[in-house]
Amino acid sequence: MAARICCERVYWPIAAKAAGSCAGRMAHRGVTVCGRGPARAGRPSVLTRGRFPEFERTRNVTKGLFMSAASAASTERFYYRDTYQGELSSRVAETGKDDEGQYIVCDESIFHPQGGGQPNDKGTIVIGSSVFTVEKLGAPRDPKEVPYIIKHYVFEDISGVKRGDEVVQKVDMSARLLFARLHSAGHVLANATSELFPNLEGCNGNHFPGGQAFVIFKRTSGEFPDVADYKERVTARLREIVAENMALENAWDSSPRTVQFGDLQAYPCGGTHIGTTGEIGEITIRNARKIAKTGEMRVGYNIDESAAASSHAT
Ligand SMILES: [Zn+2]
Repeated sequence: MAARICCERVYWPIAAKAAGSCAGRMAHRGVTVCGRGPARAGRPSVLTRGRFPEFERTRNVTKGLFMSAASAASTERFYYRDTYQGELSSRVAETGKDDEGQYIVCDESIFHPQGGGQPNDKGTIVIGSSVFTVEKLGAPRDPKEVPYIIKHYVFEDISGVKRGDEVVQKVDMSARLLFARLHSAGHVLANATSELFPNLEGCNGNHFPGGQAFVIFKRTSGEFPDVADYKERVTARLREIVAENMALENAWDSSPRTVQFGDLQAYPCGGTHIGTTGEIGEITIRNARKIAKTGEMRVGYNIDESAAASSHAT
């Protein structure tokens, strides 16, 4: 089973066997807890294996300096490392303007750009006493592209912003965690479906809030299941996966990285994920219908979206 490019990011199934079981991978090279800052009480841990590539390279190059525009170094993607990090100090690498508007590029970013069916983060960039509102981001469609540069589009005048200026990036964590829960629920829905119906493989999806989330499944063989039977069995399995509170592990031995909850199937993915399946909360299957035109099946799902702001606000 080959990895596929869906939406904007490498996203859907690779063979779990090829990625290795969670236990085997942990034993292979040891496990560390992801995140730059110290763990705080109640903070879910994200396990990570292997070297985080951009972090090592960028740190060695910059040593506190900013890179020249000519070096065109990739933006270090901190949202890969820690979904729960809502603030980051960095420096301005360049500023500019294109058809989308005026933008700021930093050496590092905690802002996840839209991709994989997941909305982009929003928040602010603070430079001195000036606050710049980040509503939109720009980045290559392929997360493996080099250089991978994230543009933070802002409304406010950036004429006074210079390369090397110190910045503080702040992400709207209520939205970030809701998006991560919805996106992670999509992974888990694909996991449960392929477990129970091996001829169905998740191949695309949309994880936007407001009752829009869905996963598209293609048939690799045989027929589609009866919808009522599908909903009943998959719903039961989803409840088990959430109740087991499986931990997420990131692995960096393929690009952009693979993510895996417990011993479920691993996926290559550039999105943001919550630390354990328990944080998703209840997943309900809104509908499941066959798409006659494409021969695929579209499964809509919901989570309790109001839970994100109340349980995870920072
Ligand atoms: Zn993902």
